Amino acid sequence: MTDTFSKEKRSEIMRSVKSKGNKSTELKLIEIFKKNNLTGWRRNYPLFGKPDFVFPKLKIVVFADGCFWHGHNCRNTTPSDNSKYWTIKIEKNKKRDKLVTKTLKNKGWTVIRIWECEIKKNKYQRKINKLKKAMREIK
Ligand SMILES: [Zn+2]
Repeated sequence: MTDTFSKEKRSEIMRSVKSKGNKSTELKLIEIFKKNNLTGWRRNYPLFGKPDFVFPKLKIVVFADGCFWHGHNCRNTTPSDNSKYWTIKIEKNKKRDKLVTKTLKNKGWTVIRIWECEIKKNKYQRKINKLKKAMREIK
């Protein structure tokens, strides 16, 4: 694969894409949790796959997945330059996501993944309902 960026430049770009997208998404999700009276979640909980939010007592994890990084089939497309590089990178992330979900589920965790675009466009209610339902069933 061709790579027009230097290694340093590449990781700089990746860092900025990653932090920019995910920070605001996670903050918005915290607001949504509060609005829906969803409590008991932890950040930075040490668990395989580093879920964004973990409800340890209920064994529920919530991932806020950035559409670009996790290859969502919405209009967040790969950049036109070096698209092959990104495609490979994103395919790897998708495989990793599947592995994480499967591994956690096998260990008895309920895994909920919410897309960045669902959060941004206020289309998250279905996922929040799923979360609420899971919480009720476990409690
Ligand atoms: Zn999306």
